[in-house]
Amino acid sequence: MPACGRQVYCIRLTTVLCVCLVRSGLTNKWQIVNVLRNLKQMKVLFNKKFLFHNVDSDAEGAYRIKEFPEHYKDTDFNGEEYITLVHSENHKNMIREACMHNDYAAEVLLTPESYAAAISAVGLTVKAAEQGNFAVVRPPGHHACYERAAGFCLFNNIAIATQKLVNEGKKVFIFDFDGHHGDGTQSIFYESDKVLYCSLHQAYAYPFSGLPTETGTGNGTGYTLNIPLISGSGDKEFLAALDKAIAEARKFEPDVVGVSAGFDGYEKDRLLGLKYTLKGYYECGFRLRRAFKHVFAVLEGGYHYDIRDCVENFIEGVNVGSRPPRNMFDEMMSLG
Ligand SMILES: [Zn+2]
Repeated sequence: MPACGRQVYCIRLTTVLCVCLVRSGLTNKWQIVNVLRNLKQMKVLFNKKFLFHNVDSDAEGAYRIKEFPEHYKDTDFNGEEYITLVHSENHKNMIREACMHNDYAAEVLLTPESYAAAISAVGLTVKAAEQGNFAVVRPPGHHACYERAAGFCLFNNIAIATQKLVNEGKKVFIFDFDGHHGDGTQSIFYESDKVLYCSLHQAYAYPFSGLPTETGTGNGTGYTLNIPLISGSGDKEFLAALDKAIAEARKFEPDVVGVSAGFDGYEKDRLLGLKYTLKGYYECGFRLRRAFKHVFAVLEGGYHYDIRDCVENFIEGVNVGSRPPRNMFDEMMSLG
């Protein structure tokens, strides 16, 4: 279609949409803005620099995301200024120095490229939180604590983005379905009643925390929910635990939902024994988006070659879940 034809088509489509919205009774402009915002689709945020960190590792190596540059353009945003929202200045400096001097941290041999990747991972997660997108980043973050790097994680990407939202007056539900317990994220928000942290993970696996008895402390008592699953658990157990978490989160009434999307619960993962499938990830995205308006996600673990399929199935679920249910659509149309 020629450019002018596309323009006419877009104007016609927008006019039809506006007429439908007005005819449906949504005469208040903010109601219309809210409907349009709900139709927003989740997208991938990615940058090639994530491939140049810990390149050849068989575990958290660049192979995990090697397909993404062919399909997604680069987005860049330096998140360095946000690191101290949840980490000490000392930790930030220690990681930067380790990267500049090719030292080990979090079981990884770091390089200057690692620091560039790490601050971009923080930046893209902050952007994803603002925009409702999925940040496909390396290194992952959910094992990193206030002053400790661990489990391939240098800075806690989702905790940093979440703390920024909390500082803006928002309540955040973090749903962490990585197959390992997110001990770093839990520790950072353990005393907070502004963040509900829920982790689904394989029992008796690294980092050997995340028992159901760990529920928070002080003001944060009751704001941590751990649901360990035994090795061999599949979509049935995954989705039952998700429904339990959604029920708890509805009572919490979050403004934003942040997803620590690690795909090492996947049936082909080489480190863990969970058996989630692509359909399970689709359904997870769908149910989360059906239940909550503002959802963003960030990549955590996943040690196999199907990460792109996993990410895209989750995103498709979110985007289908963002559409109005059919009966609501019919009801809107019948008002005219
Ligand atoms: Zn993991």
